[in-house]
Amino acid sequence: MTTRHASCSCGQLTVTCVGEPVRVSVCHCLACQRRTGAAFGVQARFARDQVRATEGRTYTRVGDSGGAVAFHFCGECGSTVWYELSGLPGFVAVAVGAFADPGFPAPTVSIYEERRCAWVDLAGIVEHYD
Ligand SMILES: [Zn+2]
Ligand SMILES: [Zn+2]
Repeated sequence: MTTRHASCSCGQLTVTCVGEPVRVSVCHCLACQRRTGAAFGVQARFARDQVRATEGRTYTRVGDSGGAVAFHFCGECGSTVWYELSGLPGFVAVAVGAFADPGFPAPTVSIYEERRCAWVDLAGIVEHYD
């Protein structure tokens, strides 16, 4: 079974994932743009028992839908590496960039497309949501 490692920029906050993600998505929402400093966020969802992670610091944000997301980030370098959604207790999301793996499975789901930067054009998306 595939084992993958993700970490923050400085390497103190680490995540180990065993097996394949159950879903890989991009999110174009403005909160993801702010959090990542990039034009969109990319995250891989894993079942909680597939993941071992160090805690880091936590920032909790309540989304438009009322659900809370707890972002675990490194107190030293500031990278957000993984997060938990209150509405999905059996799963965790890991920031795909934290794997630093260009071969990571591609996203197939795209959400908050109403906030998508006009120049972002992603191949391979099969599920689109505003
Ligand atoms: Zn760090
Ligand atoms: Zn988002």
